[in-house]
Amino acid sequence: MADKRDYYEVLGIDKSADDAAIKKAFRQLAKKYHPDTNPGDAEAEQKFKEVQEAYAVLSDADKRRQYDQFGHAAFDGGAGGGGGFDFSGMDMGDIFGDIFGDFFGGGRRQADNGPRKGANLRASVRITFEESISGCEKELEIVLKDECTHCHGTGAKPGTNPETCSKCGGKGKVMYTQQSLFGMVQNVQTCPDCGGSGKVVKEKCSDCRGTGYIASRKRIKVTIPAGIDNGQSVRIRDKGEPGTNGGPRGDLLVEVIVSRHPIFQRQDMNIYSTAPISYAQAALGGEVRISTVDGDVLYEVKPGTQTDTRIRLKGKGVPSLRNKSVRGDHYVTLVVQVPTNLSAAAKDALRKFDEEAGNTLNADKTGAEKPKKKSFKEKLKETFDDFIEE
Ligand SMILES: [Zn+2]
Ligand SMILES: [Zn+2]
Repeated sequence: MADKRDYYEVLGIDKSADDAAIKKAFRQLAKKYHPDTNPGDAEAEQKFKEVQEAYAVLSDADKRRQYDQFGHAAFDGGAGGGGGFDFSGMDMGDIFGDIFGDFFGGGRRQADNGPRKGANLRASVRITFEESISGCEKELEIVLKDECTHCHGTGAKPGTNPETCSKCGGKGKVMYTQQSLFGMVQNVQTCPDCGGSGKVVKEKCSDCRGTGYIASRKRIKVTIPAGIDNGQSVRIRDKGEPGTNGGPRGDLLVEVIVSRHPIFQRQDMNIYSTAPISYAQAALGGEVRISTVDGDVLYEVKPGTQTDTRIRLKGKGVPSLRNKSVRGDHYVTLVVQVPTNLSAAAKDALRKFDEEAGNTLNADKTGAEKPKKKSFKEKLKETFDDFIEE
């Protein structure tokens, strides 16, 4: 093509422009001439192609060097005489993903027909509070897909081969346009016909019905580390869906559900609980038995302990997931129990105790507290006394 414009001219940049300048120029021009922002404008479409082509060459160090040396002739070599750059091996989706990915949330995309990791599988397992503290092993049953041994994962009847997908031409992806906040956007999607493999099976394998996989129930051991919290997941590598085109398997993510405990509550690495103590223990002090995840411990309560006093049992909390020997604490709120259903003797003893300790039961007789209506006589006497004093 004689009228082919210089690539630097197309992008409006200098021959010495660096990668960032090339990218910037392309980004601006690609947006300006994008077919979706210029519907039906053949000239814009032509410009858009020109810009893409120029960028494809100049953004690639090798191709740029060839272009600098030989000009357009560098890419004319025998490819059908149509002239120009051969785009069949190029992936416009990649260029777009690269340039606009950060913009439209697409991110950098990998080649869809290359090896791809399989999808992750999810499962859940319920454990007790105690198991979450000590760690445990559980077995669960999941349905796992494995490569079909009959067709070795191709899905094609043995003796036949999968064919190149006609919808995507074997690329494994197709372009489509979509309305977005930024106007019409061109996007790349996994090919619906071949599922991204670039190949379709004409004569299906009878064992796997063309899928290439056989699903079966498998029992899987899950090691749950000490310290796991409700809702956290354990990842088991390579127990997810099989990869495609030779990619690795996905992972199995097992969500752990920790049952509620009747006494213990957890927050981060600490455990909280309440423990009853008797009135005598609170007043006189002494050993009380307290439940912890390590079993009961004896705790020396100080004399005169008030109700709702919180004590700390150091290192009796939840172990760290990273290091089992690092543990949180256990906080215990001591609740003083008021005795009920006392025997006559106990009541008697308590009355005697009260007489010794402030005589609160008879406050009335000592005239200490309780307001009381005065009789007329008393009032008169007071007035009289006052009168006499004067
Ligand atoms: Zn098969
Ligand atoms: Zn396809």
